[in-house]
Amino acid sequence: MKITGISPWLVAVPNHDPGILYSQGQPGSEPSRAVPTRQYVFVQVDTDEGITGWGEITTYPGPVANRAVCSVVREVAPLLIGHDASRIEDAWHKVFRTFTYVGTRGFTTAVASGIDIALWDIRGKALGLPIYDLLGGAVRDSIAVYTHFPYARTAEESARNALVPVRDGIKAIKTDPFWEEMGRTGTRYLDGNISAAGEQKGVDIIAAIREAVGPDVEVLIDAHALYNVPTAIRLANRLAPYNITWFEEPVPPESYHALRQVREQVPTRICVGERLHTRFDFVPVLEQRLADFIMPDVTWTGGISELKKISTMAEAYYVPVSPHDASGPINVMAGAHVMMTVPNFYKLETMRSKLSAYDAFITEPLACIDGNLQVPRTPGLGIEMNVEYLRAYAVPEFSGPV
Ligand SMILES: [Mg+2]
Repeated sequence: MKITGISPWLVAVPNHDPGILYSQGQPGSEPSRAVPTRQYVFVQVDTDEGITGWGEITTYPGPVANRAVCSVVREVAPLLIGHDASRIEDAWHKVFRTFTYVGTRGFTTAVASGIDIALWDIRGKALGLPIYDLLGGAVRDSIAVYTHFPYARTAEESARNALVPVRDGIKAIKTDPFWEEMGRTGTRYLDGNISAAGEQKGVDIIAAIREAVGPDVEVLIDAHALYNVPTAIRLANRLAPYNITWFEEPVPPESYHALRQVREQVPTRICVGERLHTRFDFVPVLEQRLADFIMPDVTWTGGISELKKISTMAEAYYVPVSPHDASGPINVMAGAHVMMTVPNFYKLETMRSKLSAYDAFITEPLACIDGNLQVPRTPGLGIEMNVEYLRAYAVPEFSGPV
């Protein structure tokens, strides 16, 4: 079976969730306001036997990065036309090596991820098996998730919002209590500081949430890689009394030295990995014991192939894997299929406890029962994309073949 086409889909769909905001760190963004549309990037791979596979690359902080990855997908496509669709590892390395001088992480692995996921989808459909069966078979029956809840401006409202997923059966929730100040200008990453008032408000928010949800619900903190070393240390120490499960991305991802300094001076557990790409980026994290949890994103780190490899590496260090996942339905399902086979899986991220935000993209809704995502036994990823919906919201200049 030969690959006959690889096309990006950039879609901008209506945002019905007022809690979905711009990502932080984007100059000019307005993160304190809900955005009218949300963008997603999908990758369609066609074959000469009529089987089509789907991948996803949706990236942050948004429009510029999404358009750029679509352009790279189009540039890479001719390299893989005629390639045997079952030679997934070979296709991965072909993309990876194409960018060996410009840099093999980031854009390279995002594009490799989208194609890799689509090729696994094709392989599963061709063999009539779910992807997890191709990765060694299931070690569990469903996938425990943790979720976000809408940001709020007050501690009281934050606590009320936090109870929504808990009432849906979710056992672990995540938030960024410092978002209001750190997201406002989108440029706070320049100095990594937070004001005393912003810091106190964040602590008050977590105190109120802990009080509301009780001791049994896990509370995870996302620091969004925004802080300098002393600020990250101070924030983690101030939140530690509220029994937080992890303090995520305390500092920007480029400096392992900075991460180590934080690590050595906080009592909280650390999670990193959504901005780390390939097994190579995780070597120092594991070797130098820089994190208690790792959180690769299947659509950025190198796809299903790479997430499985990273997970196995982490298994050898007894480090749990908790995939990052805050975009579309393929991100969720690709991560879930790998985690079905990973002994050291912790929890999979989803944006909301109700998965209805994905419904329009796919022909059958996803099911989450008591905080556990159900992974269909149908072939490939187990979902079918609603192409009519994609077409209705596609940005034409960045969708389809050139
Ligand atoms: Mg994060």
